Amino acid sequence: MNCDNQESEFLSLANTGIQSLRPYLPGKPVSELERELGISNIIKLASNENPTGPADSVVQAIRDELPELSRYPDGNAFELKKALADLHDISTDCITVGNGSNDILELITRVFLKPGDNAVFSQHAFAVYPIATQAAGGESNIVPANSADHVMPHGHDLDGFLKAINQKTRIIFVANPNNPTGTWLARDELYNFIKAVPKNIVVVLDEAYFDYVIENEYPDCSQWLTEFANLLVTRTFSKAYGLAALRVGYGLASEVLTDLMNRVRQPFNVNHLAQVAALAALKNQDYINESTALNKIGYDHIVATIKELEYRWIPSVGNFICIDAGIPGNELFPALLKKGIIVRPIDNYELPQYIRVTIGTANENDRFLNEIQSLTGVGPT
Ligand SMILES: *Cc1c(COP(=O)(O)O)cnc(C)c1O
Repeated sequence: MNCDNQESEFLSLANTGIQSLRPYLPGKPVSELERELGISNIIKLASNENPTGPADSVVQAIRDELPELSRYPDGNAFELKKALADLHDISTDCITVGNGSNDILELITRVFLKPGDNAVFSQHAFAVYPIATQAAGGESNIVPANSADHVMPHGHDLDGFLKAINQKTRIIFVANPNNPTGTWLARDELYNFIKAVPKNIVVVLDEAYFDYVIENEYPDCSQWLTEFANLLVTRTFSKAYGLAALRVGYGLASEVLTDLMNRVRQPFNVNHLAQVAALAALKNQDYINESTALNKIGYDHIVATIKELEYRWIPSVGNFICIDAGIPGNELFPALLKKGIIVRPIDNYELPQYIRVTIGTANENDRFLNEIQSLTGVGPT
């Protein structure tokens, strides 16, 4: 059945921001490529997931709860919040659980952005910021990224952020580290920035890759919440914790911000298995350490190899890396798909020469590296 009728009339009736909204482009699912090419043995290095999956203890915890699925989840996520409160040494009144941290980004935007207001964020920043902003009828106030020859090439220019703030600014999104660039901000720089932001503007610090970063100067910003009532720190179980499919993340903020976000939060936004799995994952910190160590080894191996092949890349502290393909990333991407390797072209992030590759297992990394070596006619010029 064709359901494409009277679309244009309704398009003009939609909220202004939504009329021109371009939806989020997810990484290509393995099952989709399997259907298209009829091949198996596909690897996905496209969405920054933990390549070793969730810990066994987490899988077991999920299994144990399967008989409970007829019940609604705990809408207040009591056990999970208690564990998070202990972890961050913070009151449960400062915690908001989300259906992924994406949910938290949308909640805060919905609370504060009115049509005509703007949200400040960087060029090349995570794609959800402009989407959440526009969906709320707000405007994206985009700050040009650092230049390619900066010490943190393509990273956030925080001085530029301060200059971009105006009367209509309500929210600032800072990704530390940022996806897709993998660039990051050091403690003093970030602290001084938050201090300089007017107190009536919410600063969202997106720390989706917090666990992967092993730099000495990388801050744990949850420590700053007592000082800054306008700070929201977001974390997720989707990346290092290996739970992307379950959709669970959280926000840490002052009680007043937390209360406001919880007024618009769906009552059961985090499902029961997600809560149980997140709780079990928090108890298995060894697994996070192993995952982080594996990521470091994989990253170093990829960098050493592409360096030898004379590719250029953006140094990253996350579990992914942007590689200058030498040709449009949009051309290398389908060439790799044919070999059963899913990466991410990032022209939608204004980085058309690059592909973003998630650090995989040792085998996955080698398959990717072998393929880019054998693809003739592509590579560095
Ligand atoms: C993956 C990612 C997120 C959120 O993912 P969720 O699965 O919704 O928790 C948030 N910010 C950045 C920068 C990301 O890359």
